[in-house]
Amino acid sequence: MKTKGIVTGIVSNLVTVKADGPVAENEICFIDLAGVKMMAEVIKVSGDTASVQVFESTRGLRGGDSVEFEGRMLEVTLGPGLLSSVYDGLQNDLTTMESVFLKRGEYTDPINREKLWDFTPIAKPGDKVIAADWLGEVKEGWLPHKIMVPFSFKGGYTVKSIVPAGQYNVDTVIAVLTNAQGEDVPVTMTQKWPVKVAIKGYREKPRPDRIMETGVRVIDTLNPIAEGGTGFIPGPFGCGKTVLQHAIAKQGDADVIVMAACGERANEVVEIFTEFPELIDPHTGRHLMERTTIICNTSNMPVAAREASVYTAMTICEYYRAMGLKCLLLADSTSRWAQALREMSNRMEELPGADAFPVDLSAIISNFYSRAGTVVLNNGQRGAVTFIGTVSPAGGNLKEPVTESTKKAARCFYALEQGRADQKRYPAVGPLESYSKYLDYPEIQAYLDKTVEEGWVEKVMHAKNLIRRGKEAAEQINILGDDGVPMSYHVNFWKSELIDFVILQQDGFDPVDSLCPIERQRFMLDLVLGICDKEFEFDDYEKCRSFFSSLINELRQMNYSEFKSEKFNAYNESVKKMIA
Ligand code: ADP
Ligand code: MG
Repeated sequence: MKTKGIVTGIVSNLVTVKADGPVAENEICFIDLAGVKMMAEVIKVSGDTASVQVFESTRGLRGGDSVEFEGRMLEVTLGPGLLSSVYDGLQNDLTTMESVFLKRGEYTDPINREKLWDFTPIAKPGDKVIAADWLGEVKEGWLPHKIMVPFSFKGGYTVKSIVPAGQYNVDTVIAVLTNAQGEDVPVTMTQKWPVKVAIKGYREKPRPDRIMETGVRVIDTLNPIAEGGTGFIPGPFGCGKTVLQHAIAKQGDADVIVMAACGERANEVVEIFTEFPELIDPHTGRHLMERTTIICNTSNMPVAAREASVYTAMTICEYYRAMGLKCLLLADSTSRWAQALREMSNRMEELPGADAFPVDLSAIISNFYSRAGTVVLNNGQRGAVTFIGTVSPAGGNLKEPVTESTKKAARCFYALEQGRADQKRYPAVGPLESYSKYLDYPEIQAYLDKTVEEGWVEKVMHAKNLIRRGKEAAEQINILGDDGVPMSYHVNFWKSELIDFVILQQDGFDPVDSLCPIERQRFMLDLVLGICDKEFEFDDYEKCRSFFSSLINELRQMNYSEFKSEKFNAYNESVKKMIA
């Protein structure tokens, strides 16, 4: 028996309902508005009154309208076909829609029910299985998509039967499992999972021990992110958060990408729609969209749908991680998500925390970030969810609550600076403020020693020191004038400019420069540090400047040439002559 209720109060999307039975927090209900059923989520229960957040406009809703509680939380449907889909926060399929916006009370099926998938069984009758174990496989694009024992199954099961290899749609019963009580349970290719609960079904979650290559030098060389790691990109409007995230999406070493686009305005989301499907995967030459799911919403979508979107995106990542795949979750921007939380908590008239955000903002953000990670599955294979979110602090103020809370949760910090963006020094990641805590992990250091170069982390620290020294020199030159400082200040300043122009700056739109594999990053850092470690003597600072300017030019030309091509080698030779 479902609990029923009637509407007793309405404040915009926040509706109070008097219920005739038990109601749970985060439970889903449907409000009947003249035959249109609008989805809502319970966010507070006190006595027989439930406060529910409606996922849609409540215009026209009246006191006394009827409500039916579902007895389940907000769920996402998981199964083959999620990739290359574009959904809103409630997993409505936006590609089948005329516009980005659904009519009220309209919910679409997230998964194509007719499409036939080439199924190959993995398990066989008699096998003992538990939740998340692999029963079979279909090919989704060229990715192996595992059909698993549903995550909600508790205890041990025995495979009673499994269909032979063949073509089936997602609703076909592909296996029958017998539980400990001897009851038979059917399993299809889809399952549901509540978005706010992390998917378990793995043996352990070890510390990250390798990096995820992104092809972006400021990240990989200076502040690498671990596979299964977390990072965030705070930056004022127009500083390049979105361009940087798209670069990471395009080049990041991941099997599956989930992009949660919480846009400020509808046109940003439309950009995602139009731009993303065009992107070509530089590794395979195929459309990036084939291994991408986009979850998008705009500020004019109701607050609860916006709040749900990042959870939906994370749940989809966890699902693919359970198949032993490397997943990359990108959220742009998590500030919109935090604002949705704030709007909700304000309407609930909760005691507000800093800047009117909910008091538990930090806990909500850390909980979310902690869902990322590398896992060892029950069968010993590894899967990973790497998460990078952007934060758009109002006025670039990095002391605001969302940035501060995220800083506590994320292990990499890529601060975009207005000043660098103004000078067109892209990506505008500040080299000194930004950090990667993974560089301190012995596992990561060992990994870098082995895969990049022995003593790599010391080199990276050395480069950072040179940048710092150059910055200090620049400040002195600014105060005392070009003639007021010793020549070594000019040399130090130009050495840091060399690192800035050749390593830090990277043209996100150039086909060669935008993608810089780690081997090439190692070559360039070694080359640049080799130059910086030389002593240079100049009679006057003009000569110093012109020497370094032409050096920078040659090295930048190298960045634009195919690695180790004739052109590249020619520039390299000319650089060697210049510094000889
Ligand atoms: P944000 O998302 O922070 O508001 P965007 O990512 O949309 O900012 O970037 C704004 C503009 O800055 C871009 O349209 C582009 O012209 C420029 N830009 C940002 N990053 C780069 C880059 N790596 N290379 C070249 N131009 C860039
Ligand atoms: Mg943006």
